[in-house]
Amino acid sequence: MTSQEVRAQFLDFFKGKKHKIVPSAPIVMKDDPTLMFTNAGMNQFKEFFLGNSISKSKRISDTQKCLRVSGKHNDLEEVGKDTYHHTMFEMLGNWSFGDYFKKEAIQWAWELLTDVYKIDKDSLYVSVFEGSDDADSLKMDKEAFDLWKAIVPEDRIIMGNKKDNFWEMGDQGPCGPCSEIHVDIRSKEEKAKVTGASLVNQDHPQVVEIWNLVFMQYNRKANGQLENLPEKHVDTGMGFERLCMVLQGVKSNYDTDVFTPLIREIETITGRKYGKDEETDIAIRVVSDHIRAVAFSIADGQLPSNTGAGYVIRRILRRGIRYGFTFLGTNKPFIYRLVKVLGETMGKAFPELREQYQLIENVVKEEENSFLSTLEQGLVLLDSVIKSSKNKTIDGQKAFELYDTFGFPIDLTSLILEEKGYKLDVEGFEKALKAQKDRSRAASEVSKEDWVVLLEDAEQEFIGYDTLEANVKLVKYRKV
Ligand code: ATP
Ligand code: MG
Ligand code: MG
Ligand code: MG
Repeated sequence: MTSQEVRAQFLDFFKGKKHKIVPSAPIVMKDDPTLMFTNAGMNQFKEFFLGNSISKSKRISDTQKCLRVSGKHNDLEEVGKDTYHHTMFEMLGNWSFGDYFKKEAIQWAWELLTDVYKIDKDSLYVSVFEGSDDADSLKMDKEAFDLWKAIVPEDRIIMGNKKDNFWEMGDQGPCGPCSEIHVDIRSKEEKAKVTGASLVNQDHPQVVEIWNLVFMQYNRKANGQLENLPEKHVDTGMGFERLCMVLQGVKSNYDTDVFTPLIREIETITGRKYGKDEETDIAIRVVSDHIRAVAFSIADGQLPSNTGAGYVIRRILRRGIRYGFTFLGTNKPFIYRLVKVLGETMGKAFPELREQYQLIENVVKEEENSFLSTLEQGLVLLDSVIKSSKNKTIDGQKAFELYDTFGFPIDLTSLILEEKGYKLDVEGFEKALKAQKDRSRAASEVSKEDWVVLLEDAEQEFIGYDTLEANVKLVKYRKV
């Protein structure tokens, strides 16, 4: 089954259950001060869950573009190292706004997975919230437990703690217990050795969570207390790439047709082969993952920049560029060449990729060019700093220099150091960063009279560029 078919079947199934199919919201959040990027399917429906507005349709289903690289859900460190966490991924979902609740949500999820997709029932495990004895003192979700017990043998129902089985959107907002569905795709021999139940939520690459059914019944207030929501709702999220992995009978998301065209293209460009050694594989996975995050964000209007969400995108791309440079031997822009392939595989479901194709390609190429122009020098500097370091910790001032002069985002420097078994003096870095900010504030106060940093003024004489951060050039003019 192709990934296109997997997606279509999901939406068709819920259409058949009287859900309205809606498009994905943008991956970049524009009007929610608590979130930079959409990190779950429910984000766009938050106001319905809070009761602040009412949905015209009580049942909705879609596939949502998500990004988990900042804030509460940050999977960046896992990406590439494991085979089932991405920065950008699609979350398939179905929602009930004050309509059906646990019974239908559970029964339909089971029906879709086992009757429609024909996943082997014996490979599935489900989890139920066990309750908590903290300040919230919540009871076990007996209702969900009983509903599952009617469908699956009891030894396939796992009790889960608050971390895994109580879903919260953020520090505030709608929340509630959840039931997750996990799938065990290990070989028969492996299964015979160790029971899958003991591997659920243990970061096993072949015993993975695919679907989370959240039963929203509370709202967490600013003071931390829970209150009952005026109406109960269902919010489900299924990882599309993981589902494709299961249905396509492969052992990694990267072996599904969502990723293989990108990986083949990286192989063609770099001459490296995927599946030969771990270091190369991680780099190929990282690049094939990161281009998706970057391309979808640009398509939704978020260009790489030096602040806020734009800097998150720049950091992701620079991370990818450096993986290519160090592990795939690329010293010329190449990631931009994946945009075309991405458009071909995903453009039907997400037309914005095709519509914005040229812009995305240009922006990525320009970013690659500018970072590559300082990357090598920066790496040489970092190497010499490492060699001269005595206590396995790198001076924050040096990390600042890498950031300021060579455009190394601080998490990239940390990542490289970590690979080599070194640590970073984060405090020292922050001190240097603050000192620079203070300096430039003071400088800009003084320089107002002499320098203007803007174009389109005939009364100015061009006097040159000033490189600030790797590729950020301030065009300087003298007033005449
Ligand atoms: P995990 O425990 O694997 O990190 P999660 O519990 O954080 O997943 P949820 O917030 O429950 O994930 O999201 C719903 C579904 O989205 C998950 O069941 C999973 O299939 C998928 N998912 C979550 N995070 C990612 C990711 N980083 N990449 C791909 N799919 C993901
Ligand atoms: Mg997670
Ligand atoms: Mg989980
Ligand atoms: Mg989950």
